[in-house]
Amino acid sequence: MKVLPGWVRATVAGLYCEPGDFFIDPWRPVKRALITHAHSDHARGGSAAYLTAEENVPLLRLRLGAVSIEGIPWGESRCMSGVRVSFHPAGHIRGSSQIRLEYQGEVCVITGDYKRHSDPTTVEFEVVRADILVSESTFGLPIYQWAAPESVIQEIAEWWSSCHAEGKNAILYAYSLGKAQRLLSLLPPVGPVYVHGSIAAINEVYEAAGISLLPWRPVSLWDRMEKGILLIAPPAVQKSRWLARFEPYEEAQASGWMAVRGRRRQRALDRGFVLSDHADFYQLMETLRESGAEKVVFTHGYTEAMVHFAQQQGYQAYLWKTDYAGEVDTESDRQAGGSAVDASPGEFPPTASP
Ligand SMILES: [Zn+2]
Repeated sequence: MKVLPGWVRATVAGLYCEPGDFFIDPWRPVKRALITHAHSDHARGGSAAYLTAEENVPLLRLRLGAVSIEGIPWGESRCMSGVRVSFHPAGHIRGSSQIRLEYQGEVCVITGDYKRHSDPTTVEFEVVRADILVSESTFGLPIYQWAAPESVIQEIAEWWSSCHAEGKNAILYAYSLGKAQRLLSLLPPVGPVYVHGSIAAINEVYEAAGISLLPWRPVSLWDRMEKGILLIAPPAVQKSRWLARFEPYEEAQASGWMAVRGRRRQRALDRGFVLSDHADFYQLMETLRESGAEKVVFTHGYTEAMVHFAQQQGYQAYLWKTDYAGEVDTESDRQAGGSAVDASPGEFPPTASP
């Protein structure tokens, strides 16, 4: 790929920095892995040593178990065989970072997944100057433009209130890591809150870090007589028989994909709330502009469209097909990506440690 500098290469295991001898978010086991964030498509087990942002260490530990993980504070740089490495907030989920690499005066920034809207569970996105930007593009089409999160949270609260008033349970599908905790940090207390088992362990890590969430209980403690609850569960449990016990209920999902009405209908949801932990199209373009980069590589999402839009704006733009999944809506989307994404949100955290 011509656009990458000679010292950063796209390999079958992931992005490799040759002079520093490390990989970034590799999808195969390597000697040294730098990790942007703890979602399963970016943080895979099996590598000998991990380096990540300090804020991400507890979440990476929860995912990977007893492996060698070193944390580094935001913005602090580390010299690795002549390559200056630093981690900068990406605002995507707690602990998520962009990774900045500098070698012989050239700067390459890898965004990982990121969002520009603020999120009380993590530090706000930081614009990092770059010569070459390696960017996600999950929502890289002009149809994706996010409303202010405050108004979406209000819509969700109103829906939950109306379910509560009607004695129905409100089931809200959201990613186990990141989205569920963001919702719990923003929603007002309308009624009792329960969470799926895959979310409970992650909530505990957030709370141990001082993030304040709505009072919640694991769903195993729910008494069937109690109605009007909010249950937050990963999208993977939709249509499972397990849900029958919550009758009567309404189902909704909080995801960027809810911007497309067809997706909502396809999943037979009562409501769809457009709340994403990724940048929308306009924020992707704005970030590219603000980075000052002349060259850009799009790694996952609507890569071809983004290459087209960036080229139109005069950038040297390329795509690199990676194994990152971005914001996955359903299992079939995940498979359609053709990638070896390991765990569904419902399976987090994995029990085996490499
Ligand atoms: Zn992610």
